[in-house]
Amino acid sequence: MSSPRCSQAVDRPFECSPEELTHLLRSAYKVRSENFPDVIHFYFPGMVHFEASFYRAMNPYRFPAVSVTGKVCQLNCDHCRGRLLRRMLPAGSPEKLYEVALKVREEGGTGILVSGGSLADGSVPLKPFFKVMRRIKEELGLSVVVHTGLVDEETAEGLASAGVDCAMIDVVGSNETIRGVLHLNRSVEDYVHSLELLEQHGVPLAPHVVVGLQGGRLRGEREALKAVCERKIASLVIVVLMPLEATPMEKTPPPPLRDVLRVVVAARMAKPKTPLLLGCARPRGRYGGALDVLGVKAGVNGIAYPSEAAYRLSVKRGLSVVFHDECCSLAWRVKN
Ligand code: SF4
Repeated sequence: MSSPRCSQAVDRPFECSPEELTHLLRSAYKVRSENFPDVIHFYFPGMVHFEASFYRAMNPYRFPAVSVTGKVCQLNCDHCRGRLLRRMLPAGSPEKLYEVALKVREEGGTGILVSGGSLADGSVPLKPFFKVMRRIKEELGLSVVVHTGLVDEETAEGLASAGVDCAMIDVVGSNETIRGVLHLNRSVEDYVHSLELLEQHGVPLAPHVVVGLQGGRLRGEREALKAVCERKIASLVIVVLMPLEATPMEKTPPPPLRDVLRVVVAARMAKPKTPLLLGCARPRGRYGGALDVLGVKAGVNGIAYPSEAAYRLSVKRGLSVVFHDECCSLAWRVKN
């Protein structure tokens, strides 16, 4: 059950007419202006070579993603089929993870994103890595952020004792999607429980809400936002279905922009004082440019891999642009 405040903030953008949504868009930007300085943060994590008129990110070791399961995933979700893991550095043991982190440090990087494929229960096998995560932070001075998957008490405690800088979890608000797309015999309550455990252990939390996971349609995003609205979180990241080649969803169109806008506006209203980000997993090209523009208009605080259009609009709106070669989940650490 969500509180009346959260229900109201989240429901309205989902239920209103297109005209009212335009009106709410303006209100959302006002909310941002009232709670944050006129600064927007652009993030360039990962190993992708990025070059635009306003910024270049060339160092592949600046903030890479590392998979603790290599290319293996037991879930093989319809939108991914483990393909995202292929873009990560493999590190199947704590020793190998330290080695990768050392290389990152030597190459001038500032952190790593520890990720991996899932086990059949929706968790990522992180338990052997807590001690080495702490060493990487203490000895190498790197930031460590973690894609957790569903967590149990021991994992939440382990992440807290490792002192990780952020835990990221995709919050799925539809049982149909959890079963049908992720092939997981779990429920929305399990996601909510994971959020609760991480919060109870004081782990900085950056939930990701994925728009359009159910065949490009809205299904459960509203519930995911309500769950997040009730929690103490460090930052909130919105990502959008990005159909990948050679997956069953390869030909699925991304969700209509208006639907994504409903989610972003609802997120801004639900969490007026929490950094709100457009994350790196979202379609690019013309769709991506239009989405970024709507994101800026709806008052996001930052964007991972922003488009030229996002840069131009931010400057036009008088926002100072700050660049970071790191994961956008770390927006909570930024001192504006
Ligand atoms: S969306 Fe942001 S927080 Fe999530 S992995 Fe990408 S850069 Fe990091």
